[in-house]
Parts: sequence; structure tokens; C-alpha cells
Amino acid sequence: MALLRNHIAAITGAGSGIGRAIASGYAREGARVVLLDINATAAAEAAREIRDAGGKAESFALDVTRRDDCHAVARQIADIAGPVSILVNNAGITRRNGISGATEAVIKDWEDIIAINLTGVFNVTHAFMDSLRATRGRIVNIGSVQSFMHLRTPTSPAYTASKHGVLGLTRALAAELGKDGVRVNAIGPGFIETPLNEKVRASDPGLVKIFVDHTPLGRAGKPEDIVGPAIFLASDLSAFVTGSIVMADGGYRTI
Ligand code: NAD
Repeated sequence: MALLRNHIAAITGAGSGIGRAIASGYAREGARVVLLDINATAAAEAAREIRDAGGKAESFALDVTRRDDCHAVARQIADIAGPVSILVNNAGITRRNGISGATEAVIKDWEDIIAINLTGVFNVTHAFMDSLRATRGRIVNIGSVQSFMHLRTPTSPAYTASKHGVLGLTRALAAELGKDGVRVNAIGPGFIETPLNEKVRASDPGLVKIFVDHTPLGRAGKPEDIVGPAIFLASDLSAFVTGSIVMADGGYRTI
């Protein structure tokens, strides 16, 4: 059963990790997928992989912090492919410094992380608003366990604030857009093995152990673990679900 047939799905940060897996999963479910990433080469490679597997995919370079570019790419996609009915706001970065480091670094972390992880979600959503309204579309935002809590393992206050912000924005947009039939939900991944945390996994296995020991399912997640919830929230299976966050964290937040 192709759950996303006749949909056009745009996914930010789709050149790597979770976004790349979601793009492949959506294509397998029949959607035409549009992969957006600041890393144009990675997005193009991922799109080629999807086409080689028989899916419909194209890619565009996009830095989600550049508001005008978000609007330009949204217009371009509408012209080439048609109106986007599914938007996944997935692009994100993390850093692991507290507020007590060198001032310049602390300020740079704050500005970069909020610009990409939170303002980026606003920029891209705003750019696709007409298409999403016209199609009674669905928005899936990628939050985190840090949409609810800060972690004692090194992480930045900006990351926690950005992911709390993503959940707040999800709820606000769900409330406003419900009357237009647009559903807005989030996914809260736990620790997922992706290039985002490749360095820390290699250099600090103890940190990974702290996460896994705290996870009832007893393992780290894989990008594929986020695909099922992302298909659910984009498809008619979740027709009466909006303003929610689906935790895909192996149970991390339950203990
Ligand atoms: P990743 O580093 O593998 O992929 C992130 C992608 O975003 C990359 O392709 C990167 O080029 C792209 N990107 C970065 N800045 C961008 C920008 N300004 N504009 C457009 N694209 C940009 O990371 P991932 O682990 O797949 O993370 C995806 C999302 O999941 C992020 O929002 C992250 O915060 C969230 N998340 C990840 C984990 C985890 O453990 N990996 C846990 C919770 C939440």
C-alpha cells in the first residue's frame, strides 16, 4: 500500500542521516520527494540513490537560514513539480558547549543553532505556506528529547532552547492552521546514530553508554527508526492528529 501516493514532499537537511532516511521512506511510499540541503552534493547523491531505486526525486541547494532563498526555492518547486503537500523541517546542527566558554564561541553557538534549528523551521514553513494551504498539507518538524529537557551530557543551551522552540512552534502552527486542514506535528528522536554525532561516538563511547543505559529499549537508534513515525504523521493514518509530538527515543524520556 503506497501511503503517500500523489503527494509532493519537501525535506530539509535531506542529504544525510535522518532526513535522508525519511526522503527514501517517503519515496518508497509513492511520494515525489524534493531533497533540500545546504550540502548540494549530498542532496543530489541522495536523490540519485532514490531514483536508482525507482523513486521520484530531485534536489535543490538550500540554506534554511537564508529567508529569500527559501521563498525562491519554494516558487521553483511549485513551478517544476507542483504544490508541496508534505514539509519535513529536519535540517539541524548541534554543538556541545555550555554558556561558560569563551564569549565569542558561546555567542556563535547561540546564533548558528537558533538560526538553523528554529528560525530555519519558520523560514521554510513560511515559504511553503501557500502550497501547504492549497493541498491541506502536513508539516513534520524534527524536535528531540531536548524539546522537553536539558541533558547533563555535554550539549548547548542553544540546542535545548531551539528544540523547545520547535515544539512551541509546532503547537502554535497546529492551532492556527487546523481550520485550513493543515496538520502540524513533531517527532522527538532520542540518540540516533548519524553523522551529526559521528565524532562524539568515536571519541567518547562512554557518552553513548550513558544514553543507552538510560534507554529502556537498550540501544541507540538508527535513522530508519524515525521513518515509520514520519510516514505516519505525513499520511492519512494520522488524519486526526495535530499539535502532537511522537517520541521515537527508545523510551528515553520515560525514566
Ligand atoms: P546530520 O548531520 O546527519 O544531517 C543534518 C543535515 O542538515 C545535513 O545534511 C546538513 O548538511 C544539513 N544542514 C545543516 N545546516 C543546514 C542549513 N543551514 N540549511 C540546510 N541544511 C542544513 O544530522 P541528523 O542527526 O540526521 O539530524 C537531523 C535532525 O534530527 C536535526 O534537526 C537534529 O537536531 C535532529 N535530531 C537528531 C538526533 C540524533 O541523535 N542524531 C537526536 C534528536 C534530534
